[in-house]
Amino acid sequence: MNAPVDALVIASRNPAKVNEFRRLLARSPWRVVALDDVPEGADVELVEPGPDYAANAVAKAVAASLATSLPTLGDDSGIEVEALHGWPGPTSARWLGPDASDADRLRGLIEEVSRRSPDDRRVRYVAAVAVARPGGEPVVAHGTCDGVLVEPRGTGGFGYDPGFLSSDLGVTFGEAGDTQKDAVSHRARALRRLAESGVLTPPDP
Ligand code: IMP
Repeated sequence: MNAPVDALVIASRNPAKVNEFRRLLARSPWRVVALDDVPEGADVELVEPGPDYAANAVAKAVAASLATSLPTLGDDSGIEVEALHGWPGPTSARWLGPDASDADRLRGLIEEVSRRSPDDRRVRYVAAVAVARPGGEPVVAHGTCDGVLVEPRGTGGFGYDPGFLSSDLGVTFGEAGDTQKDAVSHRARALRRLAESGVLTPPDP
């Protein structure tokens, strides 16, 4: 497939995240393309060198942009437990090992919090989103959203969403519809900041 000139490549192999970015950018001038849908993208290794969300988001965006010669968007995100000093944070996808499912991780996190901080279940989603354009410096922005960890409710979203009771919405992200989540999510907020900075403005045709 030949990528269109206004393609914006999402440097992720998480289909749920790519879908979220597609929705969040649906009214932008960009044509959102998944990394694996660009021929040069298939071999790109998306590494997370750390030490933080921003460095990981930039590393993914830059690797994808260098390989595809297209503007790219990389992100890194996680859930942070207030009483556990932000853990699991950037390790949210892998702290329970490579074979654990989303449901395993949510159950495991609920058990950890019940054991270690039963009276304080405040959590926060954090996202860093980076844009890299060929020949340009990468730009990164953060977004957060606050909630409380609860027993799973609803089947929407992905990852920890059924257990994330959103303080903005009063329902879990598993119960919320896509439109509701997209209005308040950490990724939406980071993306809004990037848009305000002008870095998401496409080149003149
Ligand atoms: P990474 O950004 O690909 O390293 O993964 C972040 C991990 O944090 C995901 O695999 C989820 O477990 C969790 N996470 C980040 N954002 C969300 C979200 O919007 N909903 C549910 N889980 C999320």
